[in-house]
Amino acid sequence: MLVEGKWKGPIVDQHMHLDTRNRFLSAAEEFSRCGGTGIFLVHKPSFSSSLPKDIEGYRVAYNETIDMASQVREKTDLDVQVVLGPHPVVWDIQANSLGIEKSTELHISAVGLALDFIEEGKAICLGEVGRPHYKVSEDRWIKANELLSEVMQMASSSKVPIQLHVEENGEQTCREISSLCDKAGFPRRMAVRHFAPSNVSNDHTSGLPVTVSMGKGSIEGICASLDNSKSHWGMETDFLDDPKRPGAVLGPKTIPKRTNQLCHALSSMGWDENEIEELIFNIHETWISSTYF
Ligand SMILES: [Zn+2]
Repeated sequence: MLVEGKWKGPIVDQHMHLDTRNRFLSAAEEFSRCGGTGIFLVHKPSFSSSLPKDIEGYRVAYNETIDMASQVREKTDLDVQVVLGPHPVVWDIQANSLGIEKSTELHISAVGLALDFIEEGKAICLGEVGRPHYKVSEDRWIKANELLSEVMQMASSSKVPIQLHVEENGEQTCREISSLCDKAGFPRRMAVRHFAPSNVSNDHTSGLPVTVSMGKGSIEGICASLDNSKSHWGMETDFLDDPKRPGAVLGPKTIPKRTNQLCHALSSMGWDENEIEELIFNIHETWISSTYF
């Protein structure tokens, strides 16, 4: 609820990474201190050291993420949900080093392993999966889409939601992703597009749930597109906890700060307190439950 214009209620960062070699607990504590109540801790590939070359490597890496989540739960009051999966950029990099067949095989096994962990209750969502966000050869792009389609079919059989790492190409991106969902028999409402621009209108999201990257200008973008939105959407930082890119993509304080800015902006647009409370509660609780639980 709102107390003197300030939101007192759930505040969730739906896409955050942590790294035991960098800020780790202090970043989670900072988020919590600023009013954050929950995070989706997304598995981060070790781009800077060595990428898993076999399924045992993935098992070790996934367990590290699960262990980080336990430590954050011990040290803070945050609700921590784990997102596990093989990154599409790793697939592309390893297609160059291991060959496309071996890289694809490893990717599919790593999806299977993540789904096993999810079934055991150690994680809640498959991700980030998707396709490279940069230009690749036409042949590689076709393979990437075939692979994503197979990943969606696997997630569909297991009834598991996915967080999607995709390129940014305006409304075309979500339109293509939603048609891939339909072809794979995967419900659109479980395909969350991560790192989304702030346009939350249905024209732009094609009805997919999206998590908006809450950088500068995001509040304005949301406010301008809200009227035409029937999508479920949320907020994320994609905090990387990478010593080489401190504070990137956005820092841990961002989501509590933007949540309060959104309340303020809506109030200036003439929304009453009940309407604001309902929207913020949807963003940080109701829509999350309906997508992931
Ligand atoms: Zn990420």
